[in-house]
This record gives sequence, structure tokens and C-alpha cells, in this order.
Amino acid sequence: MGGMSTIYLDNNATTQPLDDVIETMNRMLRDEYANPSSVHPLGQAVRHRVECARAQVAALIGAEPRDVVFTSGGTESINLAIRGLLAQRPDRKRVVTSTVEHSAVRNLCHQLAREGIVVDEIGVDADGRLDLAQLEHALTDDVALLSLMWANNETGVLFDVESAASLASQRGVPLHLDAVQAAGKVHINAADLPVQLLSISAHKFHGPKGAGALFVRKRTRIKPQLIGGRQERDLRAGTENVAAIVGMGIAAEAAGRVSDAERNRVAALRDRLEQGIRERVDRAMVNGAEAPRIANTTNIGFRDLAAEALLILLGDAGVCVSSGSACSSGSLEPSHVLAAMNVDPRFAHGAIRFSLSRFTTDDEIDRVLEIVPRVVERLAATGSH
Ligand code: PLP
Repeated sequence: MGGMSTIYLDNNATTQPLDDVIETMNRMLRDEYANPSSVHPLGQAVRHRVECARAQVAALIGAEPRDVVFTSGGTESINLAIRGLLAQRPDRKRVVTSTVEHSAVRNLCHQLAREGIVVDEIGVDADGRLDLAQLEHALTDDVALLSLMWANNETGVLFDVESAASLASQRGVPLHLDAVQAAGKVHINAADLPVQLLSISAHKFHGPKGAGALFVRKRTRIKPQLIGGRQERDLRAGTENVAAIVGMGIAAEAAGRVSDAERNRVAALRDRLEQGIRERVDRAMVNGAEAPRIANTTNIGFRDLAAEALLILLGDAGVCVSSGSACSSGSLEPSHVLAAMNVDPRFAHGAIRFSLSRFTTDDEIDRVLEIVPRVVERLAATGSH
């Protein structure tokens, strides 16, 4: 993508689909286009493909295939989980979540607050770790649902989901985990965790965009949010996006096959990148460095520089990365994640996320370590930051 010299380190935004995913999806679109609800042999062949994909996705998260509902992606899974569960418990008007959630959860919770739900946001420490004491306090009898992310998309910080899940289960509060950035990067075993709902998205683990899944534990009742046909055990109406579902299955199986050695290789590359930038750029600070993190992510703040300017210069130099900040109505809003971590605004405004994948090479990291200090120096010298 983008020619030989482009270095793609934006894998938390989206990943490159595997060749096998692309080829199989092409074949599905061309040859196996029947509706899986049709009873004729072509329809049933496609039904079989969808059920194979369900088993592949279930295996990645340690679930039973019958507990996996296909959706159009992480955002839809999250909306189905949270709204679907709240609709089943109209007597409970409180939702507990964290201050560092992805906008899919965060903005939904803001909307729920406008609809009369009380939303409690649990804080994090300076390295992005969840405040478990505050969580314990917040899990009162009137809580309908606890929704937490597993891995943070901006910093890669992993929440202690085992402790959070055990607190929730002691209090009888259902738990939804946004595992969109965790799936394929950490071991997930839904069978072992007291979690009722868990969202994942295919395009974060080398599958297609617009395909996701919601794990719904047996006996957890949620209300469908799309009304229509009876697909997905009545939980998600609409003719299945068969090619994308099959592509997601292939990506899930491949992600499950990634060895520890391969994960360690990515972690070592990330560490080398992080260490190298720290050594070469004195204004660099790693956010969340002391917390457990997914192996592929580092979020680095460059003091007194603007992330947007850095992104443009890095892009011109062939390095594709993202910032945690969002530019809204002309003013640069620092990331809510870094703000919740109390990161000094001088560093937060210049925060860049580098997110690697199993396709990232040693050579690419070498080149980034040459380019970043040069770009930082150039920007600092212009004084226009
Ligand atoms: N949750 C997290 C943590 C994410 O990083 C993302 C995607 O960026 C989403 C949810 C939304 O997923 P999707 O893009 O599939 O809607």
C-alpha cells in the first residue's frame, strides 16, 4: 500500500487484510452469493460457510459458537450490547464505565445520559490503569451494566479485566468488554472470565472492515436493536454480510495461530522503537509506559510540538501514524485518554500513536528511528508549533 517506501504504523486504526481473506471474500462475492436463509443447496452451502466462520471466531475468544452474533463491526456490537442489555432491565438506571473508553462506548454513554441514565465514569492513574477501588465503590445494586475496554486504542494499556470481572460478578452486575483492540493481541478466554458480553471487530486483526461480532453468554438476555428478519437467532436482523463474515472467520483463525514467538518479536520491535526514540529525542515521553500494554502499541508525547504538524511531516516522510487528539472546530482538543491520565498538556498536544503489526519489519523500525528525530528537529526549529 502506498508504494515501497511507505511504513504503515497505524494498525490500531485498521490493519491490512490477509491475502487469504481477500481471495476468499472475492470468491464468495463471485460464486457463493446465495442467501444463507435459502433452503436450496446453494443457500445451504453458504449457511455452512457462515457457521464455519462462527466456529472460527468463537475459537479466537474461547466461546461457544452459538454465543457469537455477527454484526457490522465493533461499534454495532457495542451498541447492541449496551442498549440491548439496558432494554432488558428498565428498572436499573445506572451504567458504570471508564474515563478512557473509545468513542463507540463513550459517546453512546453520553447519549444514554441525555436519555436519563446515570453514567459513572471510573478514573485511571497516571499510567492508565483502572482505579479498582473506585470501581468497587460504584458497583451498587442499581447498576444495570459495567462496560469496560480491555485494551486502550490510544495507549495500548490493558485494563485488569480479571479483577474488574470478578468485582462485577460478586455484585451481580453484568459486564460488557470492548475487546476490539485486544482480540488477536492477547489471549481471550470468554469461558474462564465472568463476562456476559464482549465486542470484537474484524478489521483490527487483518480481516475486513464492516464485520464484527458480539459474544452473548448463554442466558444473558438482550433486546435486538435492529428489527426485521430473524437472522442471528433473532438478535441481529438483516441478510448476513456473508463475504465479510467468512473473511472475519479466516482472519480469526489466523490470529489464533500467531505464536508467542511472533508476538514477542512485535513486542521487541515496539520496545526498540520506543527506546530508540527516547534516546534520540529528549522531548519524548512514553504515555502508559509503566502499565501492562498490548505488544504493538506505543504512545509518545513530544513536548511543545503539535501532533497534527508532526503527522503531516511524518506522512510526507512515508511514516503513517495517528495522533490521539481530535481537531474539533479549529481548536486542537487533547485526547480525553491522556487528559484522564493527567498527562502534562505540553506532552499531550504532541502525542503520536505508533501501532505495529505482525507485518512490521526490523528495517521499517530502523527507518522510523532515522526519520522521527529528523522530523521533530525540523518542526522544533520552525517555531511554528
Ligand atoms: N472500540 C475500540 C477500542 C476501538 O479501537 C474501535 C475502533 O477504532 C472500536 C471500538 C470501533 O470498532 P469499529 O471500527 O469496528 O466500529
